Amino acid sequence: MEHFTTISGTRSYLDRRRAKGISIGFVPTMGALHHGHLALIQRSKQTNDLTICSIFVNPTQFNNPDDLKHYPRTLSRDIKMLEEAGCDVLFAPEAGEIYPKGLNETIDLDLGRLERVMEGKFRPGHFQGVALIVKKLFDIVNPTRAYFGKKDYQQLAVISHMVSSFSLPIELVPCETIRESDGLAMSSRNMRLTIAEREIAPAIYKVLAHVKANTGHLTVQELRARALKMLEETAAFKVEYLEIADGTTLLPLSDWRESSKPMAFIAVHLGDVRLIDNIELFS
Ligand code: AMP
Repeated sequence: MEHFTTISGTRSYLDRRRAKGISIGFVPTMGALHHGHLALIQRSKQTNDLTICSIFVNPTQFNNPDDLKHYPRTLSRDIKMLEEAGCDVLFAPEAGEIYPKGLNETIDLDLGRLERVMEGKFRPGHFQGVALIVKKLFDIVNPTRAYFGKKDYQQLAVISHMVSSFSLPIELVPCETIRESDGLAMSSRNMRLTIAEREIAPAIYKVLAHVKANTGHLTVQELRARALKMLEETAAFKVEYLEIADGTTLLPLSDWRESSKPMAFIAVHLGDVRLIDNIELFS
């Protein structure tokens, strides 16, 4: 695997390869890799001539400095995993390479309601940071296709909005959420759970599965209230939100007839760790 830390090195390598007419699949990550990330790499390898992964813990998307400080960093293990997965190129820059003028840089992009609901509401500035880093990475890598997990469903909507706002010639490929055998969505943050918290965490998926099983049997309000109660019964969870919303607009539903793609979304704090998950209710 080729490993670059500079923009110029990455660009000139990819330019040379691109001149031969190859397709490039891109998987942006913040590292501390797990099977969810590797599934994106596999997906890219199936369709593209070259697959590049980036590892960058992007400071501008962290609204909580403690979260940034404690975000897991496991670069040498990540490199081994990427090599075993057959990834062709890794771009793993330092912050100064991406933000030479400092971290006050912004992207002038109106995200509309995406910034006012769920993750947007509870993590002010987060999606501006996400849009900024993904735009920068897209400018560096210039991929044919880019792979994102539905685990971060609202992030996918933000990136899709950004791609269409800037008319970027990049195909976005949404990938299914990969889960542990007990249902917990894989996440780099799971590493930070204590053994006791790790046993509690799958209750998030149990609540989502319950919402899915009861979709249409109860009103949206009844089902949301029941699911919230179930979630709150796990005393260790500090619930941030539980929403039943449309999968396209991400706006909360008041009636099942308002949406052909209803979804449920959860964010909780468990100890020091913030966990999110979602489920499509009609799939
Ligand atoms: P992260 O390193 O958390 O920023 O994630 C990098 C990419 O991997 C994003 O597109 C995530 O949505 C995706 N991802 C993270 N966890 C999972 C998972 N459990 N299943 C599928 N994709 C995931």
